Parts: sequence; structure tokens; C-alpha cells
Amino acid sequence: MASKQFTIQDREVIELPKPLDQLSNSELERKSCIGRVMTYTLRSLTNQLVDRGFQWLLPVALSQSTDPLWPDPGASIEKRVEVDIYGKTVRTTTSMIIHKLIAASLVYQKLFILSPNIRIEKAERAYTGKHIYEFTQLDFEVRDASSKDVMRTVEDVICNLLTQLKRDMKEELTALCRCDTLTLPKKPFKVYDRAELEAKYGACWEEAISKEISEPVWITNIPREFYDFEDFKTGKWDNYDLFMPQFGEVLSGAKREWDYEKILKKIERDKVNKSNYALLLKLAKEGKLKPSAGGGIGIERLVGWISGVKHIAETQPFPRVPGTVYEL
Ligand code: ATP
Ligand code: ASP
Ligand code: MG
Repeated sequence: MASKQFTIQDREVIELPKPLDQLSNSELERKSCIGRVMTYTLRSLTNQLVDRGFQWLLPVALSQSTDPLWPDPGASIEKRVEVDIYGKTVRTTTSMIIHKLIAASLVYQKLFILSPNIRIEKAERAYTGKHIYEFTQLDFEVRDASSKDVMRTVEDVICNLLTQLKRDMKEELTALCRCDTLTLPKKPFKVYDRAELEAKYGACWEEAISKEISEPVWITNIPREFYDFEDFKTGKWDNYDLFMPQFGEVLSGAKREWDYEKILKKIERDKVNKSNYALLLKLAKEGKLKPSAGGGIGIERLVGWISGVKHIAETQPFPRVPGTVYEL
């Protein structure tokens, strides 16, 4: 059966968020309201993780090794930010995935970080409403965990957050017109395989499934960076994205590779610069890299979905819209 191919024309053109000094009084009130939802969400998520025994690590901004963001078919990086310090080239953090894998293996069995990520997305991504060039991931990792363990933890944490928000943030959700539409999902969330979605909807499956669902769902088996676990026999990837209805991806995560030969093979296959991952490779070779699973929640996307914004930069006090640099 022929299926509808969703294209970029299906998207509505949205107004881009403005800086604080250009907002009207009612827009400033809305900003403050979203700010209260943001504060509540951060408190709920961090409290829940700490209560579950996670250790809270502070982020790093500059490292030799950061997420290659490659080969992700959805990646759209215009520029990689590198700078020389003390005779070494360091990169601004694109994600703390490499740090997480090493920290979870060597020290912290369960960890999370509120990690600022810099990704200079192409300017045209301003109009997706889902991309900003600086954002924060709640990045977490658990040594010896499976994908299922992580998925169940995320479902619990998200459902608790929504229950608490609906109890304590009625005024804010009403002002944002989300009081009735933000419903409590049923657990466990439904799981879809990316290959089946691609066969049904074509290349724009992400947009199509986001429009079709009425509750959060998991999408598994997505080919991407070397650190996600790939079964070489079946070609299947043991990874998962969390998609919200009418919105799309808010989390990406996976079970991880820890075997030296596999990591090396994937790095070489993907033509990723091996020298940026020398420590990870060394630890894997010595058997010190441990199996783990984890993920990262895009905080602006989660709060943007909860608040029903058209553009996630609305959740930022100082908007980071691709293609636009304001003074602050
Ligand atoms: P997309 O395909 O939507 O561009 P991604 O899959 O490349 O995103 P990941 O590398 O999986 O992004 O990043 C982990 C999480 O960080 C995403 O699930 C999302 O919530 C958030 N995120 C990624 N890029 C951005 C961005 N440019 N702006 C805001 N949040 C982002
Ligand atoms: N945070 C993601 C993960 O844990 C990786 C990424 O940001 O690309 O899988
Ligand atoms: Mg992703």
C-alpha cells in the first residue's frame, strides 16, 4: 500500500522567539510562566534521580573528546567549535557521552549531568522549532543496565513529573492552554521499530509518527554513532528515542558498546577521527570500559512540549535560535 510521504512543506512557518528586551508585557508574563514550569521540571527530575541513587556530576565545557555527532543521518552541524589551549586543541561540548561512559565505568554506577551542549545547527533549522544552538541535556548513564531498565526508569520519572505538574502547576498549565491537553500517559509506553516506520512513512517518518501518536512512544533500532550498541549479526541497534505527541524527539539513549574490537571497527567504518577517542579505546582495550545504558533528555524540548510552545527557544531566557545571534 502506498503511504503518504511527509515533506518540509507540511510544516507551518513559525515566528522566531525574541530576546527579553523586545517582549511585550504579556509576552514577559508568558516567559515567566514557562520559567516556573522549567524550575519545577528541573527540581522534579533531579530530585527523582537523586532519590533513585544517581550521583549528580557537574558538566565540562571544553575537552579533546566530545560527541562526534556522526554518522547521524539527522545531524546538521554548520560549524564545529575548536580552540587551542595549553598547546592542545579542545572542542566545546556537543554532548558528554564519552565522559559518561568513562565515569560510569570507573567511578559512578549511576550518574547524571545537566550538561550544556553547543551544536551550531544550520540556520534553516531555526524553523523546525526544535533546534537551538545551545541547549541543556539531562544526560544520565547506568553501569550494567539494560535498555529495558532505562526505558522503565524514564517512563516512571516522566509520569511522576506529569502527575506532579498537573497537581501543583494548574495556574501555569491553564495560562499555557495545557491543563486539559497534557494527559497522563499509560505505562509502559508503546515501542516502534524505526525500520518499520521508515518502510511505512518514508524518510520523514519522525514527523509522521509524531503527528499520529497521542501518548509518548519509544522508537528503537536507529543507526547512529559508534557508541550505541549494534548487533553485528542482525544489524539491529539496541537504542531508543522518546517521542512526544505532536512534538517529536525529546530523548535519545542506548545500551553502549564496550568491546574494544567492535568500537575500533565502528570508528574506522564511520571515518571518525580515532585520535579524539584514544582514552576510550585504551580503556576498552584494557577491559576497563564496562557495559552501560543511558540517555539524554533535551530539557528545552521537554519543557517546550509540556508548555506547548511553537519554538523551544521560548523556554530559554536568552534564545539561541539557529542563524541569529542576539547581544545576550
Ligand atoms: P535531532 O535529530 O532532533 O536533530 P539529535 O537526534 O541529533 O536531534 P541527539 O544527539 O540525540 O540529538 O541529542 C540528544 C537530545 O538532545 C535529543 O533527544 C534532544 O532532546 C536534544 N537536542 C539535540 N539537538 C538539539 C538542539 N539543536 N536543540 C535542542 N535540543 C537538542
Ligand atoms: N545523550 C545521548 C545519549 O546518551 C547522546 C547524544 O547526545 O548524542 O545517548
Ligand atoms: Mg537523537
